[in-house]
Amino acid sequence: MRTGLTGAVTTSRMSLSALTRLTEAFFVRHRHRLPWVHATMFVAFILLLLVTPFTPLPAEQDTVFDNYRLFANTILWGVWFPLVFLSVVFTGRSWCGLFCPMGAASEWANAHGLKRAIPAWVKWPGTPIVSFIVVTIWAQTIGARDHVESSAVLFGGVMLLAIALGFAYGRSKRAWCRHMCPIGLLLGVYARLGMIDFRPKRREPGGDRWTETTACPTMIDLKRKTESRHCIECFRCVNPRAKGGLTLAFRHPGAEVEEISRRNANMSEVMFLFLGAGAALGGFLWLVLDSYQQFRLWAATTAIRNGMLWIGDPGPSWLMAVFPAEREVFRWVDFLTITAYMLGVMLLVGAVLSASTALAAWLSGKLGGQGSFRQRFIELGYLAAPVAMVSLLLGLGGELFGTLGLAGLSPDGIRLLKISLFAGGIAWSLHLGQRILATQGVPLKGSWLTLLACSSGTLFLGAVWYRAILFT
Ligand code: SF4
Ligand code: SF4
Repeated sequence: MRTGLTGAVTTSRMSLSALTRLTEAFFVRHRHRLPWVHATMFVAFILLLLVTPFTPLPAEQDTVFDNYRLFANTILWGVWFPLVFLSVVFTGRSWCGLFCPMGAASEWANAHGLKRAIPAWVKWPGTPIVSFIVVTIWAQTIGARDHVESSAVLFGGVMLLAIALGFAYGRSKRAWCRHMCPIGLLLGVYARLGMIDFRPKRREPGGDRWTETTACPTMIDLKRKTESRHCIECFRCVNPRAKGGLTLAFRHPGAEVEEISRRNANMSEVMFLFLGAGAALGGFLWLVLDSYQQFRLWAATTAIRNGMLWIGDPGPSWLMAVFPAEREVFRWVDFLTITAYMLGVMLLVGAVLSASTALAAWLSGKLGGQGSFRQRFIELGYLAAPVAMVSLLLGLGGELFGTLGLAGLSPDGIRLLKISLFAGGIAWSLHLGQRILATQGVPLKGSWLTLLACSSGTLFLGAVWYRAILFT
């Protein structure tokens, strides 16, 4: 019996290894064709985003199958965004390396650009977090998910910035993708949960390091690579026949986070996990909660009482939704209150998750956990990753559920799916927490108390999301 089981495990390991080598060989063989894929994606990008605003507005009774604008919007927000986001669990940052036209355009501009040294403000670890928060709030105030013109402004603006940064900074590198892209940050952090890894064949000690003297476009010191965050899966460092370089490996989901203490855990990622989940929640709550309407009324009344009458005027259309024909015109009061409300929710969620993680890190230390308080805090912060990922999916990728409705899933089925996703996220977080505590040296018997402290933060997030899960 045991021999049969061992034989089955050995056979499945051999098939996985064969599959890995086949996949690696396929991408290495066809790597030179990627510029054609990027060029095709660039044309698709132009057609979907920049041509759509010139097509007719939908009539009242039109569905996504009758009107190109509605169709394009569904493809963008209901299919592309959530699928790219979810794909990191299965294929890592394959979107970035294989398909993304923005990163490719930025690298192309770099090849023809000024090649200046990348400045410190670009390299600052907080820069992509600020970029993510700004773009998330901007997407809300211009109504990117409801108006194709706004989507064009948002993605067109990000594309121009990517090209401009690539033109100015770095030598044959993707400074934008490594340091500033809000989508890259999102995909990178959650790629740590994913099943794809590129490992050095001969790893040098010392841990991950940023360097420009490397073949890697995202400036990874290849021999010291341990983390997946910055790897865009371009396959340039892979040569199956060479003794050095990197090699592709498959792993179980969450493997990297389970051993995060050896995988360059860092505070900026933890802050992104906390604040990103909060920003996504804020982006949903302002649409549904009465407290936002009361806040808006209070802000408008106070401003008018103080003579600030401009607060009732519409602002520029690149900053806020101004669509008189579609009966949606945001005024400065909308722009300012949506921004403030989202920032408030984001900071509240960040504070609650930080407090629960700090309590867990303190308890871990009391129960024999190794390392400094800061180290334990950072490591335990990654426990929030699955729940934060579900939050982002519900908040920023919520159109996916509309698409599933169009595909025939009933409202009860959608509700059940959302509940399952959230419950699965919490269960996964607890599992990761247990593994992280084990690496810290906390005995299994005492780890439940620490897990309880950590999960109080994720349960808070779940409680605030209940309305999205149950009523939309
Ligand atoms: S980091 Fe951003 S711009 Fe770069 S490839 Fe990924 S999504 Fe595209
Ligand atoms: S580590 Fe290799 S596959 Fe990953 S981005 Fe760098 S060169 Fe490309």
